[in-house]
Amino acid sequence: MQTKRIINEFRNEPFTDFSKAENRKAMLEAIEQVRSELGKEYPLIIGGERIWLEKKFQSINPANKLQVVGVFCDADSDAENLVEKAVETATEAFKTWQCTPPEERAEYLFRAAELLRHRKHYFSAWMIFEVGKTWAEADADTAEAIDFLEFYGREMLRWGKPQPLIPSPLPEKNELIYIPLGVGAIIPPWNFPLAIMCGMTMSAVVTGNTTILKPSPDAPTVAYKFMEILEEIGLPKGVVNFLAGSGTLVGELLVAHPRIRFISFTGSKAVGLKIYEEAAKTRPGQKWMKRVIAEMGGKDAIIVCDDANLEEAATGIVQSAFGFQGQKCSACSRLIVDEKVYDALLEKVIELTQSLKIGDPTSPDTQMTAVINQKAFDKALTMIQKGIEEGGKLLLGGKGDNSVGFYVEPTIIENVKPGSTIEQVEIFAPVLAVIKVKDYDEALAVANDTEYGLTGSVYSTSQEKLDRAKREFHVGNLYFNRKCTGALVGVHPFGGFNMSGTDSKAGGSEYLLHFLQGKSIAQKI
Ligand code: NAD
Repeated sequence: MQTKRIINEFRNEPFTDFSKAENRKAMLEAIEQVRSELGKEYPLIIGGERIWLEKKFQSINPANKLQVVGVFCDADSDAENLVEKAVETATEAFKTWQCTPPEERAEYLFRAAELLRHRKHYFSAWMIFEVGKTWAEADADTAEAIDFLEFYGREMLRWGKPQPLIPSPLPEKNELIYIPLGVGAIIPPWNFPLAIMCGMTMSAVVTGNTTILKPSPDAPTVAYKFMEILEEIGLPKGVVNFLAGSGTLVGELLVAHPRIRFISFTGSKAVGLKIYEEAAKTRPGQKWMKRVIAEMGGKDAIIVCDDANLEEAATGIVQSAFGFQGQKCSACSRLIVDEKVYDALLEKVIELTQSLKIGDPTSPDTQMTAVINQKAFDKALTMIQKGIEEGGKLLLGGKGDNSVGFYVEPTIIENVKPGSTIEQVEIFAPVLAVIKVKDYDEALAVANDTEYGLTGSVYSTSQEKLDRAKREFHVGNLYFNRKCTGALVGVHPFGGFNMSGTDSKAGGSEYLLHFLQGKSIAQKI
């Protein structure tokens, strides 16, 4: 294992400029490469062993629902035995992995980042097929995964060093060291199938824990491809175990298992709360209180003040609301506009939305494509209907077409009343609720009147108003005069308040502490 590496200062991975012919060509080649690999069968991986099961489930292309992306052995079909085996294996691997020096653990992440960088377009192409990311969205996802590896690797070097302490008045030598927790369940969502899955898994790994990765049934192929990278870099067997399941059983059993020490979850509020509750129960043989890192949904708002630059606001709104079909936890789903600029702003927002190119994500020009699955499609249409029933007026979109893929039109509904269903419930689709307010006081009150608190943005040229938002707009990631999506690792540590989760701040300087425990050691001299 090579450990003598020069560690440069962390820098975010640049996004690919697809206006350059050579980059476009490379991406098209990667898309064709992935197309030729579609529909393969994949096993589970426990302790490096490939486990094939009779029962399978399919991951399909949301933009072309008859196209099978991957066929997976369904761990739910023998969940109890497989969870037991995986926990056993990870427990065994923990004995040695926890003693591996931090520099060596970090080195695995740096090598994984190198490989991902070399196969950037290949990974992006898998996301284009498996979850319906456009080129730019997929490229950003891959870049973020590389960032997480580079950032957490460096962070571990920092936490692995002697920690500063106040000198003792007694004749003794004092130390504070950070040690890992044990075996963790990693339960990521489908919507950032590489970045979030990789960040959640490798933050736990670099801190010396061993893991069982249960990918989302909507995005198992991207996770499996990442497992192949981990094998290629020679990560010891059993440090990351891969249990894909078609439903929720494997996840539930992992959460309940007495030897699971922590659960790192990102997903919906409903599932997050269930996990939080289940993890709080002490089972026979359990020696600890489980730690839960739960990052959940949002009902994110952009406020546009009467003194805002409306061109910039409209651009930021359309990107935040309809980028990746509104399927980001940070997506703008509520637009709160001062009545004095309401008509002028809405005109621009509608115009920009109408210009979005909707189509197949393999095409370089596509800006919007299908939502993830039939359930998401149905929910979006039901919510649009509900919004209209509750007094909303459809300004744009509103229809869906699932004949080829799960396409939902970018939808804008105005006249939405604060407190109404589509103003409160996370829809996770390209549906924007517009609320007209009389002034900034009302705008802030409406923005905060939700159980969530993930992202938010204010467009205003008044520093006074922005300063007030700093104090009063209660969200984990607050942006001014820019979109409310697109957090960068290290630059915008990410995580929300209230029902948006435990505010773990992924990509921030405290994140790794969630997977560590401090041990204070005093020796008399
Ligand atoms: P989800 O809650 O349906 O599923 C998330 C994961 O939990 C999946 O792997 C799923 O298989 C698993 N799961 C489902 N039921 C389970 C159970 N009972 N026990 C254990 N595991 C279970 O969410 P999703 O549809 O995959 O993702 C979308 C959600 O994720 C949205 O609500 C979005 O806002 C949220 N999200 C939040 C963040 C954040 O950082 N706050 C980031 C991305 C996505």
